[in-house]
Amino acid sequence: MSKLVVIGSSSMDLVVSAAKRPSAGETIIGDSFKTVPGGKGANQAVAAARLGADVLMIGCVGKDNYGKAILDNFKKNNVRIDYVEPVTHYDTGTAHIILAEGDNSIIVVKGANDLLTPDYIDKAKDVIQAADIVLIQQEIPEETVEHVAELCHSFQVPLLLNPAPAREISQNVIEKAAYLTPNEHEVTILFKGLTKDEALKKYPNKLFITEGKRGVRYFDGEKEVLVPSYKVEAVDTTGAGDTFNAAFAVALSEGKSVKESLQFANRAASLSVTKFGAQGGMPTRDEVERKLQ
Ligand code: ATP
Repeated sequence: MSKLVVIGSSSMDLVVSAAKRPSAGETIIGDSFKTVPGGKGANQAVAAARLGADVLMIGCVGKDNYGKAILDNFKKNNVRIDYVEPVTHYDTGTAHIILAEGDNSIIVVKGANDLLTPDYIDKAKDVIQAADIVLIQQEIPEETVEHVAELCHSFQVPLLLNPAPAREISQNVIEKAAYLTPNEHEVTILFKGLTKDEALKKYPNKLFITEGKRGVRYFDGEKEVLVPSYKVEAVDTTGAGDTFNAAFAVALSEGKSVKESLQFANRAASLSVTKFGAQGGMPTRDEVERKLQ
């Protein structure tokens, strides 16, 4: 079993659906409400565990009911939580989502995710050093991503940075990460001043741009390659990117080639869009293998 460490956010999504969005000062009656565990870090950890890796999550939640529900969800999905600390002085991160008129509006409150600092990461140095691969995203402080890039580089542990949500990152992080997986929007922020083709050429076998249902594009050292995704009946694309990143990391950690790993990631991500919800749609290893046949 390959060892994956996921460093990132955990939050509770509070989802309300209504016929319309209230305007300022207005109160309306909604249709439904549900709470769903989310956060890019947690989503990727759960996706990787379903795909059969030994996954250890490094993150922070509040010592409140949402934090407890998130920890229970990790346990249910076999994600190790030795380094997910419930803290008393911050609330669990939340995403407040309004679904109305066919669109969503979201307010994110980072809460305890802001406590995932470089000092906190240092408590888990040993597990990072022992990992086959480390997977990280950007819903946590920027200096933490910088610190993890340094650590992984010094331990010679490959780091997969999913640069989402989009923000500029330092050249140091770009150089020290082994794999970068922006989507088409994120890549324009990451490599300002470079066209997509120029960026791909500059970072062969490191930069992988996900292009939704088209699949994923990279430069293999000689030519640009598009690894196509699979044709599916898409019902909800939420979490496609998280499933893709988790599956790519799992396959790489098992020693699969870059191309094979991208095919595996496309397979897992395309399956995820055929079901509702981010974590709800994440496939098991068996489901992905069946799709292989
Ligand atoms: P999201 O934010 O919706 O989770 P993203 O914007 O981070 O996703 P995308 O490039 O949209 O990332 O999708 C990631 C991967 O998911 C794609 O490279 C592809 O493998 C798969 N995928 C997404 N949408 C589809 C689809 N409609 N059909 C098949 N595969 C899909």
